[in-house]
Amino acid sequence: MLRSVILAASRSSRVERLVATAPFSRDVVRRFVAGTKITDALRATRELVDDGLAVTLDNLGEDTVTGEQATATRDEYLALLRMLGEAGLTPAAEVSVKLSALGQSFDEQLAHDNARAICAAAEAAGTTVTLDMEDHTTTDSTLDILAKLRKDFPSTGAVLQAYLRRTESDCRDLTSAGSRVRLCKGAYSEPESVAYESAREVDKSYVRCLNILMSGDGYPMLATHDPRLIAIGEDRARWFDRGHAGFEFQMLYGIRPEEQARLVGEGYTVRTYVPYGDDWYGYLMRRLAERPANLAFFARALASKS
Ligand SMILES: Cc1cc2nc3c(=O)[nH]c(=O)nc-3n(C[C@H](O)[C@H](O)[C@H](O)COP(=O)(O)OP(=O)(O)OC[C@H]3O[C@@H](n4cnc5c(N)ncnc54)[C@H](O)[C@@H]3O)c2cc1C
Repeated sequence: MLRSVILAASRSSRVERLVATAPFSRDVVRRFVAGTKITDALRATRELVDDGLAVTLDNLGEDTVTGEQATATRDEYLALLRMLGEAGLTPAAEVSVKLSALGQSFDEQLAHDNARAICAAAEAAGTTVTLDMEDHTTTDSTLDILAKLRKDFPSTGAVLQAYLRRTESDCRDLTSAGSRVRLCKGAYSEPESVAYESAREVDKSYVRCLNILMSGDGYPMLATHDPRLIAIGEDRARWFDRGHAGFEFQMLYGIRPEEQARLVGEGYTVRTYVPYGDDWYGYLMRRLAERPANLAFFARALASKS
């Protein structure tokens, strides 16, 4: 219930104005977002890489409605990738891209062309790209574009969301050798017709999908902060004899940093998803919707500033 209210607020421009201009927002945002500029993203990446973590960088922004906005997002990624390469932060750092920020909602071909330019820049910089997954109305289009990009850039990563009923089948389609697949629970508000509603059903689906990916020939990327699912991931890695190099864990910037460090200490690859940019509102609201404790953090920041 609370989750749906917060996700509804994430689409309200009135609430966005309220949150964006509130004096406490800065502190809350800083916990989950590296900053607004490429230089902030590079600084955060350097710190994480020095601590033994891998990184995926996300330039915040979604639901682009004009070609100019989509081109500006593409150019931001091209600049980011060039600077990551120059700073020697590749291949430790890759980038995560939302096709909606590249024009997917009004021109799929444009989104594909922009994504292709980003993949080429990533390859030139010695790294790769993962296509974030958004709400279920975009899944087919995103997987179509992924398949086209993989013909020339086979290391392009996919994201599959365990809360969608279709995902087990999508996992089976993406287990070929070299196929990089990030498995997450899913962060959008979806109808019951396409998604499991209860946390228990989502977790069970996650385990079924994890089993498919870990027993396949691809490269699973287990994106979760859930201690039970992380333990199951470690167990299946042993069971399927993947070794530490055959898969990775992924977590979000600012969430469970001690667990990220513990897994690095155990010899696992752990990739931190680092968002940066001005357009942090939708991202922040999805993080708040996921966990009441994050809301409490938000409320404490509000109380301490009022
Ligand atoms: C790297 C990465 C990339 C992602 N990309 C996408 C994407 O492309 N599309 C998409 O829809 N979603 C994406 N997500 C978000 C994802 O779908 C989930 O919404 C999000 O990760 C929360 O789910 P969870 O698996 O961590 O489990 P949750 O059910 O949120 O949390 C499970 C448990 O984890 C622990 N936990 C969670 N947060 C904290 C915390 N702050 N402090 C301490 N313990 C905590 C608690 O024990 C909690 O009970 C991504 C997530 C990650 C990590």
